[in-house]
Amino acid sequence: MIFYSTGHNSPEVSLRDAVRSGFAPDGGLYMPSAIQPLPAPFFRNIAGMSPVDIAYVVANRFLSDDFEPETVREIVNEALSFPLPLVEIDGNRICSLELFHGPTMSVKDIGARFMASLMDKMRSHDPEPLHILVATSGDAGSAVVSAFHHLPNVHVTVLYPKGRLTYMQKRQFTDFGPGITAVEVRGSFDDCRALTKAAALDETLSGVRVITANSINIARFMAQTFHFFIAYAGMVAAGADPDRIVVSVPSGNLGNLAAGIMACRMGLPLKRILAATNANDCFPRLLATGQIEARPPVRTLANAMDSSYPTNLPRITDAFESLEMLQKSVTAEMVSDEEITQAIRELNSSRSYVIDPHTACAYTVLRRNLEDGDHGAFLATADPAKCPEAMSAALGKEPPSRHDTTHHGAHHNVPITSPPIYQSIKYIIQTVYDKQTNS
Ligand SMILES: *Cc1c(COP(=O)(O)O)cnc(C)c1O
Repeated sequence: MIFYSTGHNSPEVSLRDAVRSGFAPDGGLYMPSAIQPLPAPFFRNIAGMSPVDIAYVVANRFLSDDFEPETVREIVNEALSFPLPLVEIDGNRICSLELFHGPTMSVKDIGARFMASLMDKMRSHDPEPLHILVATSGDAGSAVVSAFHHLPNVHVTVLYPKGRLTYMQKRQFTDFGPGITAVEVRGSFDDCRALTKAAALDETLSGVRVITANSINIARFMAQTFHFFIAYAGMVAAGADPDRIVVSVPSGNLGNLAAGIMACRMGLPLKRILAATNANDCFPRLLATGQIEARPPVRTLANAMDSSYPTNLPRITDAFESLEMLQKSVTAEMVSDEEITQAIRELNSSRSYVIDPHTACAYTVLRRNLEDGDHGAFLATADPAKCPEAMSAALGKEPPSRHDTTHHGAHHNVPITSPPIYQSIKYIIQTVYDKQTNS
């Protein structure tokens, strides 16, 4: 399979080059140049298939030119090595697809593990040094660290905004040990993201292979298509009308949403996709007005979605000829912190089912938009235990013991306001590389 850049100003590349560069040289994102829909019998049988078997068929669509079927099987098995239960909340009318049973307890494990396994299979026996760089607003950092830390000659650097992560989210990558660098940036997630992009496109970093592992990476994007096929299969298996299935997605950088749109292009017959953002509502405003207007990010209870500008937007706008076509397939709505808290309380008291603040966004937008006769699945993207502060505020339980979260475990603390910040990051990357190549 070959990949084009949504910047439309870079040459097409192989899978290997697309995965290993993250961004295209023109700053665009890679997308498959052509994609064949999956055959009709697959969709007829999908309800009887396991999540891993479904993912195997879907992954082959992306990987079959580059890997043997057994290797694709191994990659999928490694990525999805935990349960992905579909839980009925209101019979088969409303279901929750729990995507957070991986090692770091969020949806990010799936894409990160898929990417790590894929990259491992692409390397030779004498692996060259790789530097994986990831900006995190909450969950991506730990998922990427957990997925990559055991691979030989790989260093992971995580950039995270100071004071915006929960204690749990931070603990999962700051104390991992050698091979991992955590950099606390006195700025927002957007600042961290800009730094990773600068490093990825920096041609003066001599010899170093810097790979960005944010959701712009095509490998993570591929794995995110699985969620939609698995949700659909589970709903049909639960007796839902196959023509009336709606999926609601907690949305920040729109990686999951873009993957859902790709799943539909691959033939998945969803009736509609709902995108639920928190108060960072750039995308709902775009759908309503046709205007992209980036505002400074605001802090919300669903912090992993606190991004002012959705990075994966080009993947979405490129898939539709016009705004009207996009509006026909996707509904996007914003959910306030009050509504998040309300949804957590309501589902806890009515169904004894506990959801985290991100999932609460998807649940709320699903409830608002589900028509009679529709069957809806919402993607449950984080274990509520990852956001104890928000959960205890909503459910009135004692908050867990407070730790000093300001400096804990960070190896470096870089103020975004100082001009040479990028130089510091670059220094870290170059020093690590020198160590990797001298040992
Ligand atoms: C990353 C994340 C999301 C949002 O996914 P995007 O692909 O960035 O839209 C939602 N919920 C949780 C818990 C996340 O970690």
